[in-house]
Amino acid sequence: MVQRMSRMMLKTLRDDPADAETLSHKLLVRAGYVRRTSAGIWTWLPLGKKVLENIARVVREEMDAIGGQEVLLPALLPKEPYEASGRWEEYGELLFRLKDRKGGDYLLGPTHEEIFALTVKDQCTSYKDLPVILYQIQTKYRDEARPRSGVLRGREFLMKDSYSFDTDDEGLAAAYELHRGAYTRIFERIGLDYRIVSAVSGAMGGSASEEFLAPAAAGEDTFVSCPACDYAANTEAVTVPAPSVERTEHPPVEELDTPDTPTIESLAEFLSVPASATLKNLLVKVDGEITAVGVPGDREVDLDKLGEHLAPATVELVTADDFADRPDLVRGYVGPQGPVGEKLRYIADPRVAAGTAWITGANKPGKHARNVVCGRDFEVDQYLDVVVVEPGDPCPRCGTGLRIDRAIEIGHIFQLGRKYTDTVELDVLGREGKPVRVTMGSYGIGVSRAVAALAEQTADGKGLCWPREIAPADVHVVAAGKAKQTELALEVSERLHSAGVRVIVDDRAGVSPGVKFTDAELLGVPTILVAGRRAGEGVVELKDRRTGEREELTVDEALERLSH
Ligand code: ATP
Ligand code: MG
Repeated sequence: MVQRMSRMMLKTLRDDPADAETLSHKLLVRAGYVRRTSAGIWTWLPLGKKVLENIARVVREEMDAIGGQEVLLPALLPKEPYEASGRWEEYGELLFRLKDRKGGDYLLGPTHEEIFALTVKDQCTSYKDLPVILYQIQTKYRDEARPRSGVLRGREFLMKDSYSFDTDDEGLAAAYELHRGAYTRIFERIGLDYRIVSAVSGAMGGSASEEFLAPAAAGEDTFVSCPACDYAANTEAVTVPAPSVERTEHPPVEELDTPDTPTIESLAEFLSVPASATLKNLLVKVDGEITAVGVPGDREVDLDKLGEHLAPATVELVTADDFADRPDLVRGYVGPQGPVGEKLRYIADPRVAAGTAWITGANKPGKHARNVVCGRDFEVDQYLDVVVVEPGDPCPRCGTGLRIDRAIEIGHIFQLGRKYTDTVELDVLGREGKPVRVTMGSYGIGVSRAVAALAEQTADGKGLCWPREIAPADVHVVAAGKAKQTELALEVSERLHSAGVRVIVDDRAGVSPGVKFTDAELLGVPTILVAGRRAGEGVVELKDRRTGEREELTVDEALERLSH
């Protein structure tokens, strides 16, 4: 049926919602695609639902094409499988937990590895039953700490999650490749600009886990990419190689009077040296024990990276109270050398290599020391890559300066292995008649997030601007005038509809052409057809929403053009 705006439930807004920060959030609300119900909880209105459904359709077609079988698991789940895997606890505050009337514990599923493994355990008994790829397009629940940015980060959101089950590593690798291919086709078809980046650390990056990222200013992820080779990785997953150090003789340690220089900036300025010549010693508590982390003075410590390296130990910054019973630690003037260094556990960035000389705290108020040499004057207990990656850092593969960009994570593919099949003891009878532990992959796409990611990438100053495959209609017909124009607009709409073209027609009475044009641009349907001034002669205007190009055509010509 032709979608008539006179009958549609659609209210566009002239002003941005007060709480909206990102472009997609503003436009999707203003254009009447979504409506906020509560923090991070969204209602999909008719136009929004169409776009969401179009993306889901493409996802479904491509998942079916790699042999995926669609299922629908419950979102309301019992606690036990998640308790067995450890995630009931590990998820912490991210998990929505609830009780039933009998006091039993339940959760709203954030992702479904446990339940899929159990389903396969129930259904598959022999190697002949495998491999299988199962998927669902389902509502997920996560009590996100900062549910901002509209549907980009919801507490309730739509995800396609799939899981592969194989008897061996080759099978898993093949299922992973199939997903990689399907994801590539999905994002091509929906018109999203994306990058595939490594999500695991290691100098070369691995293929065991990759993310699909949509470059966009509103993205909460950052990724590095090499302008010279094809290396790309999530910044969390980059290990930058340490520069090699030439062995030279350094003069002995020299103490310097540096009053009022507790920060790297003040020290570098006082001594007129670059920050990179100084050694920054950040004090943290690792499971309560004070530990120093040494990085070059011009670099920042990435506490998340540090936490990941040291997990399950907890990492916290020290507070003033921690210094109270450590008179040996002089705040702002700590150095890893001498008696202090011997007592402190010292973690350092690989750039603090043996043989490098530094200006660092002398462990006395207002004093620093020069020519403090790693390996001669202090020892590093543990090297960890803990600095925040910066543009220009060398590519781990070819050494060229890396660039850093923001992006939205829209998909994740992951060779899980046997983590969950071990917890549910998922075995099938193998070829040799013995039980074989099944290996598993897990693959997600943020379907609702993709709507916003596409809006971010394609919108312009006038509004949304959808790629045709996922737009809520192919053509937006505008009746710009009175009865004659409305009559022609409806007639053209019906004829287009009969030719299989998806149409929205703005046949609202009492709404000015100006308002209708503004709304058409805001809604973002790729082609706008205007029945206006020359309606009486059977002439209409076609306008390309993206390029703004206009053309006058007869109705027949327009129909001919648009029916392909
Ligand atoms: P993020 O780092 O953005 O929180 P994630 O690593 O937690 O994502 P996964 O657990 O891999 O995400 O989930 C699979 C996909 O689901 C993600 O790639 C993303 O597209 C989507 N997704 C995850 N969390 C949300 C959310 N809160 N709102 C909308 N989509 C989400
Ligand atoms: Mg998350």
